[in-house]
This record gives sequence, structure tokens and C-alpha cells, in this order.
Amino acid sequence: MNVPLLDLKLQYAQIQEEVEQEILRVSRSQMCILGKDVESFEENAAKYLGVKHAIGVSSGTDALLMGLMAYDIGPGDEVILPTFSFFATAGVVARTNATPIFVDSIANTYNIDPKAIAAKITEKTKAIIPVHLFGQAAEMDEIMAIAHKHNIPVIEDGAQSFGTQYKDGKFAGSIGEIGCFSFYPSKNLGAFGDGGLVTTNDDVLAEKLRQMRNHGMYPKYFHKFIGGNFRLDAIQAAVLNVKLKHLEDWHKARRKNADLYRKYAQKEGLEIANNVQNFINSNQIYLPEPIYAETGINNNHIYNQFTIRIARRDKIKDYLSANGIGSDIYYPVPFHRQECFSYLNNPDRDFPNANMLVSEVLSLPIFPELTEEQIAYTVEKLAEAINIT
Ligand SMILES: *Cc1c(COP(=O)(O)O)cnc(C)c1O
Repeated sequence: MNVPLLDLKLQYAQIQEEVEQEILRVSRSQMCILGKDVESFEENAAKYLGVKHAIGVSSGTDALLMGLMAYDIGPGDEVILPTFSFFATAGVVARTNATPIFVDSIANTYNIDPKAIAAKITEKTKAIIPVHLFGQAAEMDEIMAIAHKHNIPVIEDGAQSFGTQYKDGKFAGSIGEIGCFSFYPSKNLGAFGDGGLVTTNDDVLAEKLRQMRNHGMYPKYFHKFIGGNFRLDAIQAAVLNVKLKHLEDWHKARRKNADLYRKYAQKEGLEIANNVQNFINSNQIYLPEPIYAETGINNNHIYNQFTIRIARRDKIKDYLSANGIGSDIYYPVPFHRQECFSYLNNPDRDFPNANMLVSEVLSLPIFPELTEEQIAYTVEKLAEAINIT
């Protein structure tokens, strides 16, 4: 049996007719960038996320960069972020010439550890970037409390969490000062190319971000500040408008798949770890849970990725691959070990959880169209791999 990590063609087949009509319509209109389609997507996205303003932009990376630029973050400033995330979260901070301050993550949610944030606040801290990793919200109550105490803006990296609810129905990306999203094709809401979104409830920030998206231009050919070309294409907005209508159904299917993984893991007699400390050399596996361990609050995981932890990870990945099952390692190298950040001299011992995660995490297929048979087969092979390796 073949189980790809992701097969976007299956999703496309469900919406093909409508999407192709929309693309044809936009083509014939020759309204290529911004315009009515982008505006209508912005309205729909703002409504869905429960935010006042949504601004369509060129990518998730640019959304984050704009968030930092909106606060004039630059040389001498510090920005706190998790060491365990996709590279863009750190790259944008370095590109403003501010100093990225990496902190450790929590072993069971894989998200930034609020206690670690509190320990790193200084006079120079100008922003905190929590990442809602893999589709699960970071612990925003704790993070916002620290931020408010020190009067520091929070720029949420929701690139993997468009539609994730934190608690009380509040969406990831609607809680901090600025929310950032990516529509890279493999994200849970994916465009047909690059795209992103910036959200805020602040009217002044929204105005600034809209101008920033177009070189800081307002009125035409007058520039009070320097922005960039961070614009979203009309075709991408039209595709996103179609997909947005299906998103809740796709999230439901992802959650159902996660439940099936749990069901078959039990059936196969896998030892499911509730001790999330280092279990290298054990036969246990850790499965992601849609709740916060400390408070028991359900955080409505949307499973952009279904990321397990497992000992002998690389060998197990190879075994799955030899049996036709796709999986990937998000992420094998934390920021504090990246060559480009060696100038920061971060000691490895400051990040025990992230160091553990990078050697244990493995993301399994979770896309909505996956069948129960494929999940059962994947867990069967996982059990074999654990016994053999
Ligand atoms: C994908 C991603 C980004 C960057 O988004 P792009 O649209 O690819 O630029 C940023 N942060 C995280 C956590 C991501 O997963």
C-alpha cells in the first residue's frame, strides 16, 4: 500500500470545477494583483477568524516581516521566539537586524515555553513571536500575561494554524497584536503558489500594514515610510475564497484521522507514552494530544501536521519509507544550532526540550483524504518498525 505524506491532487479533485471557473474568471478580468478578489478574501478571512482587519500579503514570511516592521524593530532590539520552528520565524528577525532570542519549547505541545519567555525579557525586548506549531495553539494566556506586564507586542506566527482555536472560541492569530498566516500550498489552507495574511484588531496598525504592503505608499507616489512589495495576487485570493468554504470539513477530517491513529495505536498494542520526558531506547511512542497537560483545556488542534515522538526515529522513518509510507522530520535542526546563528553563541544546554524534540519528532500522513485503511496500515508498519529496529 502507498501512503503519501500529502497528496494535494485529492483535495483538488473535490473543488476542481469551481476553482477552474474562478481562475478563468480572474484571467479574463486581467485584475492580477490586489483588487476585488483580494478584498473579498480579506473580508471572508477576517470574519472566519473573528478579527477586525485581515490584509492579504505575499507569503507567511513577509507577513512576519511586516509585523516586525510595523513596530520599527531593528538593530539593538531583541525579539523572543522558539528555537524549534520553521526557519522563517527566525529568519525575519535577523533580516531586520534585531537579535533573535531563542527559547526552549514544551515537550508535549512542541510550542514555546512561556516560562522560558519570562526568563529572557530585557529592556531591549521589542516583540514576542509565539508559533502555533503543527496546528496547535501556543499557550496564549500565559504569553499575553507576560507581554502585558512588560508592555511588549505579541506577533503570532499562525502559518500552520489558520482556523486553530485556542480556547473560548478564540482563533490563533486573533489574540496578540498581530497575527501572521501562510498559504503555502502544503499548509492546511493552501493557495496555488505563495500567499499570506496579516491580521489585527488595531485600526492604526491595519492602516500602516496596508500601506506597507505597497512600499509604504500613501497617497500615490508619496512615501512616509519604507515598506515593500508584499502584495497578494488576485488568482491566489480567488482560490483561497473557494477553499475557505471547505476548511471546516477538512479540519474535521484531520481530527478524525488523528483519532484513528490513536485507535489503531491501541489496537496494535503500542506503548503510548504519557511521560513526555526523554524515552530514547524505549519502545514507547508519544502521540500529539489536543489538550494542554497542565490545565486540561481542549485546544482544538487542527493537525496541520500529526507529529509523534519516537526513539530510533531515523531508522523507523526509513522502515516506513521502505514500506511505501511517507513521513518527514519537522524540524531536524533547532535555530540555536544553525550555522547562520552561530554568531549568537547560544549554548546547547539552554534548550533541553528542543534538543530532544529534533531527534524524536516524526510527522505522519494526516491530510483529510487519507483513508482508514491507510492509517491502519501505517500504524501496523510503525509497530513492526518499533519491534524490528
Ligand atoms: C510556512 C511557515 C512560515 C512561512 O510561510 P511562507 O508562506 O512559506 O513564507 C512561517 N512560519 C511557520 C511556522 C511556517 O510553518
